[in-house]
Amino acid sequence: MKTSQTTLHFGSALAFVLFYNTAFFRHVVTVYPSSLPNLGFLASLAVGLAAILMLLLTLIGWRFATKPILALLFVLSAITAYFMNNYDVVIDHTMIQNITQTNFKEAADLLSVKLGCYALFLGILPAVVVSRIEIKPVSWEKEILTKARVALLCVLVVLGLILLFSKFYASFFREHKPLRYYTNPTYALYSLGKYLNRTFTTASTVVRPLGKDAHIPVTDTDRELIILVVGEAARADRFSLNGYPRPTNLFLQQEDVISFSNMYSSGTSTAFSVPCMFSIYPRDQFSEQKGKNTENLLDVLRHAGVNVLWRDNNSDSKGVALRVPYQDYKQPGVNTVCEDECRDEGMLVGLQEYIDAQQQGDILIVLHQMGNHGPAYFKRYPAAYERFTPACQTNQLNECTNEEIGNAYDNAVLYTDAFLARVIALLKKNSPRFETAMVYVSDHGESLGEYGIYLHGLPYAMAPETQKHIASIMWFGDSFKIDKQALRDKAASRFSHDNLFHTLLGLFEIETAVYNQQLDIVHNGSEQRREPSPARHMVNQKKAETPSGPQLLPADGRPGYNRSSTLVPPSLPMWLLIQLALAKR
Ligand SMILES: [Zn+2]
Repeated sequence: MKTSQTTLHFGSALAFVLFYNTAFFRHVVTVYPSSLPNLGFLASLAVGLAAILMLLLTLIGWRFATKPILALLFVLSAITAYFMNNYDVVIDHTMIQNITQTNFKEAADLLSVKLGCYALFLGILPAVVVSRIEIKPVSWEKEILTKARVALLCVLVVLGLILLFSKFYASFFREHKPLRYYTNPTYALYSLGKYLNRTFTTASTVVRPLGKDAHIPVTDTDRELIILVVGEAARADRFSLNGYPRPTNLFLQQEDVISFSNMYSSGTSTAFSVPCMFSIYPRDQFSEQKGKNTENLLDVLRHAGVNVLWRDNNSDSKGVALRVPYQDYKQPGVNTVCEDECRDEGMLVGLQEYIDAQQQGDILIVLHQMGNHGPAYFKRYPAAYERFTPACQTNQLNECTNEEIGNAYDNAVLYTDAFLARVIALLKKNSPRFETAMVYVSDHGESLGEYGIYLHGLPYAMAPETQKHIASIMWFGDSFKIDKQALRDKAASRFSHDNLFHTLLGLFEIETAVYNQQLDIVHNGSEQRREPSPARHMVNQKKAETPSGPQLLPADGRPGYNRSSTLVPPSLPMWLLIQLALAKR
């Protein structure tokens, strides 16, 4: 039998959806029962999965490798299907690690007649069929062109389906993440990539030091106490301080705060934004690897002798607070203000005692909020804050109108507003002893149904404004030596997470070669600033975006530094593809 490569791939993709993904669909219908309102979404899942598989096959199956790759995938999928159907396991990277460490005897225990049937009928038989099919030969040019067309079509189909059923997909990706683990063979391949990547890169996590020269000049005798609140998914346009007609800043409007109405995030997800905002690298030069391999703002402060504490009521610090004291406030044992979930205000309990215990030196306390974490906005605030009604009371956004979703979101903003006011109250109590300040900045924004998009996490270049334009506020105690009016005058200028690193160093008056005054929101263009030190002067001559310090320059030829970057590329395109297909967030 003679056929085209595209037809063969299409037939195989359909076969994968129909015969190898029963575990996936079985788990899906327990969450989305096959009732009338869900039918369209369920059909879209099947079509979307076929499109993703088609895309995958199109990208990996070339020329003479087409048939061997398909045969291998059928065998792999058959075995994966057997274990998922019979043991309800998923093939993740730890499972693959287990498999690689299994000896023959342990493996023999798993063999059964049933496994033999799966291997025969879903693995070997399709592999034999594929091997018998003859692919019509075409030129390289034609093959590339056809693949480009097919790939584009698949991407359009997937994007179209996500937009068409955006409310369903928002909950599907966010609240029912484990469902994706049952897609076959995509998740097993993804896990294999993850396993290989980890195996090859773990050896190279050497953390490069940063700002070892950091020190506080002897002339700075006052003690600074700064609380940096890292917010979650708070949009600038939902703060009444920035002109939102609803009174969402009931408490902060009574305080002498400065709202930065034109602040932009460095990423559209917590995992990217949080390490990036603490990094010396600006957004366009930052990568997850650089974040891991280079010390960050907290380390520089530590080098200068600042007492740093990180309290977290979100997921975790995303690798930022690995070398400073860290407390997990998601745990009811630690956080004493927990209802259905632990509240952000719980992070303030016992904070005065911590401050009192620091006998000397400046203090930075980072509070990582749960804030407006979606889609279950209604869970993010106590009942007393349900001011805007009716509020969406489910994480299934498809069951709510956009207005209800927006109401729940605004109630959560109200709670953050109250939380920040409490942070200020705590700082006021300490103002006689310290120069106190609060810096609040959200990690990214949020989509609330504009263009049919929900939540966040779209690639930066295509993400809508609402996912990047974030809320940010500063407050200063009376004793803090700062020209508030000058700051207020520039509060509407465009700033971004790239400014945080240098602004914090400036507030603590730290001298180091890695400080760049031009990127310091508070002190840029400031004439009252004390004489710049030679180091600072030198750095200011440099281009604003270039991270300074010789230790930061890559490709310095030292062993161990570049190993990871040379090993990652081979698996990267595949990785990226599967990551995209599984829409990580
Ligand atoms: Zn976030």
